[in-house]
Amino acid sequence: MTEAIRIERDGDVAIIVIDNPPINAGSVAVRRGLLAAIEEIGQDAAIRAAVVIGAGKTFVAGSDLREFDLPLQEPQLPAVIAAIESCGKPVVAALHGAALGGGFELALGCDGRITLAGTLVGLPEVSLGIIPGAGGTQRLPRIVGIPTAIRLIASGERVPAAKALALGLVDEVVDGALRPAAVAFARRLGNGRALLRDREVPAADDGKVAAATRDALKLGRNRPAIRAAVEAVAAAARLPIDEGLARERAAFQELRVSRDARALRHLFFAERESARHPDLADAVPRKVERIGVVGAGTMGTGIAIAALDGGFQVVLVERDDAALARGVRRIADHYAGRVAVGKLDEAAAADRNSRLTAGTDWTLLSGADLVIEAVFEELAVKQDVFRRLDAVARPGAVLASNTSYLDLDAIAAATTRPRDVIGLHFFSPANVMRLLEVVRGTASAADALATGLAVGKRLGKLPVLTANAFGFIGNRIYAAYRRQCEFMIEEGAYPEQVDAALESFGFAMGPFAVADLSGLDIAWRMRQAQAATRDPQARYVTIPDRLCEAGRLGRKTGAGYYLYADGGRGRQPDPVVRDLIDRASAEKGIARRPLDDDEIRRRALLAMMNEAALLLAEGVAARPGDVDLVLTNGYGFPRWEGGPVFLARERGRAALERDLDWLAGLGGPGFTRADPAPLLGHTPG
Ligand code: NAD
Repeated sequence: MTEAIRIERDGDVAIIVIDNPPINAGSVAVRRGLLAAIEEIGQDAAIRAAVVIGAGKTFVAGSDLREFDLPLQEPQLPAVIAAIESCGKPVVAALHGAALGGGFELALGCDGRITLAGTLVGLPEVSLGIIPGAGGTQRLPRIVGIPTAIRLIASGERVPAAKALALGLVDEVVDGALRPAAVAFARRLGNGRALLRDREVPAADDGKVAAATRDALKLGRNRPAIRAAVEAVAAAARLPIDEGLARERAAFQELRVSRDARALRHLFFAERESARHPDLADAVPRKVERIGVVGAGTMGTGIAIAALDGGFQVVLVERDDAALARGVRRIADHYAGRVAVGKLDEAAAADRNSRLTAGTDWTLLSGADLVIEAVFEELAVKQDVFRRLDAVARPGAVLASNTSYLDLDAIAAATTRPRDVIGLHFFSPANVMRLLEVVRGTASAADALATGLAVGKRLGKLPVLTANAFGFIGNRIYAAYRRQCEFMIEEGAYPEQVDAALESFGFAMGPFAVADLSGLDIAWRMRQAQAATRDPQARYVTIPDRLCEAGRLGRKTGAGYYLYADGGRGRQPDPVVRDLIDRASAEKGIARRPLDDDEIRRRALLAMMNEAALLLAEGVAARPGDVDLVLTNGYGFPRWEGGPVFLARERGRAALERDLDWLAGLGGPGFTRADPAPLLGHTPG
């Protein structure tokens, strides 16, 4: 046995306790201990059956990913499960918290599964670019059949206990004491075995298998892990189980060291790191129960919904009754819609609606522990709002702005308590998007920032800390990327070609389609505001301004970089835009030349890397991994490519230096070429 595993007894039932805090990850120590425990139990004549259970908050919530970059140490999980299957005595898995990935595979190798209500089970391996490698793809179909197994494994769904019971993934759900119930279950099994390996795979209709396969490949963007998962599950219907297991294991081992898996592990570790900031380690988040939201527009209502969903009391304040009524209606409609599609029950919707208070009276905000401002993006308006907040908010309340670009320090300066002011930059739709930039003003107190990070987590968000700088992390990198794409349409490409090249790389949408979707006028207004301070020598692409001047503001006006027929759907390249672009190039004396897709992708991605290096050097982002989290969670950067920093590291220092020299040569005047050192994890100099 190892420290991670101990055997306790309840009469003739052995209880194998997995104790590897914090999440009982299936490390080599756990596997070694389990194997020894199973061997011991198999030989002990006084033991009739066994229960495997997790100590602490959870069963095995997953495998220890730190081991995945190296050859896996023995014993590997399939050997542990094989030992359970051949030990001659029934073994029951008692699940609480989460039984995911290898943890759930371990449970599938047992004779029965009992769970505490509230437990999540599932095989989410594909989200890490791998497939279940310890029998999940062979044992799960023996319960639910091939089509449902494909669906569950390819989506990586974490299945709540009640649904797991309905599907047969678990045999029993208990409310109270798990351990005695598991012991009773083990005793009920008597001396017989009830292993999944001995079950037939239920016959499935070919059409249903084909439909599940098609959906899975589409949902999973046809990535290698999805294809392998579908193949492995389908093989369960054809092959004897041991052959199916061997094939699954081989595919798992290959995928484990694949590029997708490395990129996704990089993001996994970056995410784990994202909440840990050495200089905030001692800061205690302030208590937050009541959240105020100022402004009930697009963002304010989304933030209010996120806060209601997160269980908070919400106070929504607007400048006039009409705007308030619109916002309140939007929130009510949202919940009614969720109920209508069966995503929320009536009682939960009523509970959320009941936690919302709305009004135009600012004193409503006096009880709020955190106020999030989401009014127009104008400094004077925001400063006025913060002045009023300063007057009504209780001492110690955290005051946050959702500004996208404005100077947080200038906003904080409107109050007598800049220490309490932070930025909370949500992304649209705020109740859906996971990314949350937590902005640190010059004066922001550590515990105010810690509060922002903690509330972000409670809202189910991924909070990433950024310094107060124009565009923070995400919008700043995205602007550099879009600018490079504008250079390319000025030099010879057209928007549809740039978009297609970047979509084929994996972006959810190309930059010009995105611009049309969000509307070209916001950036236009911003450019006008900055016109006076712009470096007259810097390269400036006039195409976006010309589109706006022609009334082409994007989808909402039926035309932008593209033409949108039938109510804004379906983008079509527009000859008028080609003409406009050709003329813009000609006026600058640029001889248009063809750009191939490879050049487009390289330049767009290098522009991101270059800007990322600049902002890391400036300390806007604290760590390289934070940049990748922002791009993959807020800007449609394909997760399986890991993010710009991951790509830069893969490229290596020498090649990256050459690439950036090349890019700087193409960028024209005003392009700042970065030192790539910060991307590679070193500080420059
Ligand atoms: P919006 O125009 O939809 O909503 C702004 C709301 O604020 C309006 O309902 C308006 O009546 C209200 N308002 C204006 N002045 C007010 C005042 N003094 N007191 C109370 N309410 C007032 O704008 P939006 O898109 O929701 O953007 C709000 C903020 O969020 C901006 O700072 C914007 O930069 C930022 N933001 C927007 C997005 C986005 O995609 N829309 C994304 C991230 C951040």
